[in-house]
Amino acid sequence: MVRATTCGICNNVLPIDAAKTLRTFPFCSERCQQIDLHRWMDGRYAIVEDADPEELLEQLHEEDEFDE
Ligand SMILES: [Zn+2]
Repeated sequence: MVRATTCGICNNVLPIDAAKTLRTFPFCSERCQQIDLHRWMDGRYAIVEDADPEELLEQLHEEDEFDE
């Protein structure tokens, strides 16, 4: 049984022989290959997603009190 390989970025199903024929393997296209590259190079956005705006405001207020 051959398991279908999918693009790690957009989940497009790749051809069975993609490993041999697809230049951008394991991605379906150059575009997805580039997206993956940027994800590795730019890890910052994971931190931005985790940031809680209310928590940041609380921290700012605490710093204000500390200064007085
Ligand atoms: Zn893709």
